[in-house]
Amino acid sequence: MPVNLLDFDLESLRAWLAARGEKPFRAQQLMRWMHRGLAADFESMTDLSRDLRAKLAEGSEIRAPGVLRDSIALDGTRKWLLDVGVGNGIETVFIPEASRGTLCVSSQVGCALECAFCSTGRQGFNRNLSAGEIVGQLWHASRALGADAAAGRRPITNVVLMGMGEPLANFDAVVTALRVMLDDHGYGLSRRRVTLSTSGMVPWMDRLREACPVSLAVSLHAPNDALRDRLVPINRKWPLAQLLAACRRYVESAAAAGGDEDGDAPAAGAPALKWQRRGAPRDFITFEYVMLQGVNDSPAHARQLVDLVGDLSCKFNLIPFNPFPDSGFERSRPEAVAAFQSVLMEAGFVTTVRRTRGDDIDGACGQLAGRVMDRTQRAVRREVGEAVRQ
Ligand code: SF4
Repeated sequence: MPVNLLDFDLESLRAWLAARGEKPFRAQQLMRWMHRGLAADFESMTDLSRDLRAKLAEGSEIRAPGVLRDSIALDGTRKWLLDVGVGNGIETVFIPEASRGTLCVSSQVGCALECAFCSTGRQGFNRNLSAGEIVGQLWHASRALGADAAAGRRPITNVVLMGMGEPLANFDAVVTALRVMLDDHGYGLSRRRVTLSTSGMVPWMDRLREACPVSLAVSLHAPNDALRDRLVPINRKWPLAQLLAACRRYVESAAAAGGDEDGDAPAAGAPALKWQRRGAPRDFITFEYVMLQGVNDSPAHARQLVDLVGDLSCKFNLIPFNPFPDSGFERSRPEAVAAFQSVLMEAGFVTTVRRTRGDDIDGACGQLAGRVMDRTQRAVRREVGEAVRQ
């Protein structure tokens, strides 16, 4: 199979070209053609010599996952089901808003972590995506949305790794893909506009901090270990004390590294809030918290959360649960979400409630189902388990 050039970041592309006797600066040209010009072939790369173009066409290609389905919701949310071979599909979702366009990208085919409320987790795990398949989602969506770097048209301003899979369980490919997203010769996104969401793989949070400190979101979902052990089973391996300590290390190191200009700034005239008061005005962890009726959504849970995070620079994002068949959970009532939010806000934490988007195309959080051939045989294990219990 030809080498997929979408698999390379600038450094590895340089090395690949050097091994073929090409000058290092060719890597920058190629990156720009692929990720800024969104070229699909080498013919259009007119500042490369005819010889080099022919050589590239012989042994390599620019290969993003093909499209199986393209759906647009009434609210403009767009979802692609992309083909990653052997009957497997992954999903990529574009969420347009007034001031930004966010692309939600998948990092694995399925997920092995079995979070109790997550439809992707229910499907089991097949494999990690390659860096080219991760970047390929951004490449494809940019083309489909008519991005044009030369004309300054950038429909995708933010990328979140919150689709299928646990990104830190596919560390090397994800970091390569992140580097392409941040590279000025690639998509040129600021690190504050690229967010990786993890369920809390503590050692890899530290590695990410060193390798590519993009914004970090943590799927918290519970304020104590007993409840989190049930909802996010990886908590049994890395409990809350370890997770929170890793969050602190991440924020401190990101702040020390400094950063770029854009990102979330305090609203003009708004009172100073906790994370804005503490030294690192824009470096913070976003805690994702899915609201499950009668499970984790009481004011007492919110107060526990306040105690848990203490003085950590953080924001909360409350996510109304998106029900799916046999989930065993229900969405919290709006009054419960509002009361929960009030407790956090009164304690000084910026707390947003995620608007549900793309309901009519199942584009909302936790509904990224795709199609997965489950190598973990989770469905079989579940059936056997149920049979044994009966
Ligand atoms: S919530 Fe994320 S980590 Fe948990 S099972 Fe779903 S995709 Fe995996």
